[in-house]
Amino acid sequence: MTAAAPRMKISYATLSADDEQLQAAFDAAVGEARAELGRDYPMFIGGIERTGDAWFEDRSPIDRELLVARFPVGTRQDVRDAIAAARAAFPAWRDLGWRRRLEIIRSAAELISERQFRYGALMSFEVGKNRLEALGDVEETADLLRYYADQMEAHDGFVLPMGSLSEAEHTRSVLKPHGVWGVISPFNFPMALSGGPAAGALIAGNTVVLKPSSDAPLLGWKFVEAMREAGIPDGVLNFVTGPGDTVGAELEENPGIDGMVFTGSYEVGMRLYRGFTRDYPRPIITEMGGKNPAIITASADLDEAAEGVMRSAFGFDGQKCSANSRVYVERSVAPEFVRLLVERAERIVVGDPTRRENWMGPVINERSLAKFRDAVAEAKQDGGTIATGGRVLTDGDRGRGYFPTPTVVTGLPTSHRLFRDELFVPFLVVGEVESLDEALRLANDTEYGLTAGIFSHDRSEITTFLNSIQAGVVYVNRRSGATTGAWPGIQSFGGWKGSGSSGKSGLGPYYVQQFLREQSQTVMGEEPPPA
Ligand code: NAD
Repeated sequence: MTAAAPRMKISYATLSADDEQLQAAFDAAVGEARAELGRDYPMFIGGIERTGDAWFEDRSPIDRELLVARFPVGTRQDVRDAIAAARAAFPAWRDLGWRRRLEIIRSAAELISERQFRYGALMSFEVGKNRLEALGDVEETADLLRYYADQMEAHDGFVLPMGSLSEAEHTRSVLKPHGVWGVISPFNFPMALSGGPAAGALIAGNTVVLKPSSDAPLLGWKFVEAMREAGIPDGVLNFVTGPGDTVGAELEENPGIDGMVFTGSYEVGMRLYRGFTRDYPRPIITEMGGKNPAIITASADLDEAAEGVMRSAFGFDGQKCSANSRVYVERSVAPEFVRLLVERAERIVVGDPTRRENWMGPVINERSLAKFRDAVAEAKQDGGTIATGGRVLTDGDRGRGYFPTPTVVTGLPTSHRLFRDELFVPFLVVGEVESLDEALRLANDTEYGLTAGIFSHDRSEITTFLNSIQAGVVYVNRRSGATTGAWPGIQSFGGWKGSGSSGKSGLGPYYVQQFLREQSQTVMGEEPPPA
């Protein structure tokens, strides 16, 4: 990015499309990013670049003729070597001490913030995020590093004096790193969900082998680039690319991995959760999918509700784990709510998301587009009404990408599969209910429990919702996003039930502790040496 690039604080909830300086800086970055497309990138194993015999292509969902980058098809042996490198680097990284580790992590955060436009424009090409969403993802990465570093510092490295039963006894609780962590990340927050989990493990003193999604390895690579420039020692953060069922599976099966953090789908996450602990207990954090409900009661401000639902259902094409994909609205206000929602959905401009005028871009790949088409056909066949959308745009340049339209479906029974299964496309089902109780029963009747929202201006309804909704992240009357838009240090972000395994959320105050294990130290006579 040029030296003139402005430094701005960008979050999902505070983004303003009217900021001309921001828009101009992004336009310039798109030009620079375009010139950077099509390169080959290596893996990093023990600080050494490694390629191989075979490459896979990272193509843009905006235009499948656009090659974003090529990455090596890693092998199981590459992963074994990366694990060995991480094991060898562990003692020195642990013994470096948390204060020095934080210096490195914080300077990486600064580098990432400085490069938010360059990285953001590349992300737009790689996964099809619009400019504000892409900038948000980059800055969220930097803030995750900062927030987790702050937590380590606030707890003084997690060394806690304990009580004693005699004057001769000194006891303390010390949280210590496990060793080597595997980090497996999804395509949809390609930087924040590579960088955040990796930073949690690293700050705690572990070393890491990171495997990004094959749909979006470039922004994971850029995270590693920033960490290397910030001075992360060789072997502490290793980067391997390739298929889930070989490279990912080796991470799961290899006994040299001491802990695992996975973000992705329920199917893959549950397979890992079971497999990783097959022979003996090892910590595994799985953050998985969602089928996130919004409830709209008769006391809601319907304008606020329609805006909040539109943003969460269709932002980044419904491809956020927190996306709102089902609505339960009280029957008396349903027609007016649907009218306001459809009006907004029809104003959404769909197209190349690197361009300012397009709010919605493509879905990630052909498979997702097929899922969208199948859902539309199924909804029609089973008696649903396509209130708006239901089409795929193929005119002009859009024919070379994967561009569905924002879709609202009414009239399906609330027991229908489309109210249950996560689709990860811009497809929202709206069901009518008689009461808040019915809405809550339906909202909770799912294997998932990630995010949820309510629009109501009745305090007792809000209390009932907050007391009984089964989800890790909940919002009340949020115009900027009914169920989406969490930020580090503001909203902890983690799932309940089938959406997440740990009950301790990312972005929040209990995250870093999950990468540590406790040791009780009792020293008789003298004070113990510094931990
Ligand atoms: P995915 O499950 O298809 O892939 C995630 C990662 O797992 C990728 O890196 C993939 O290569 C790897 N993988 C695939 N098979 C594997 C195997 N057998 N062993 C080990 N690794 C394997 O998910 P995706 O399509 O990239 O991302 C979308 C999903 O992620 C959605 O379900 C979404 O809800 C979820 N998600 C959840 C959160 C959260 O915080 N809860 C955040 C973002 C995304």
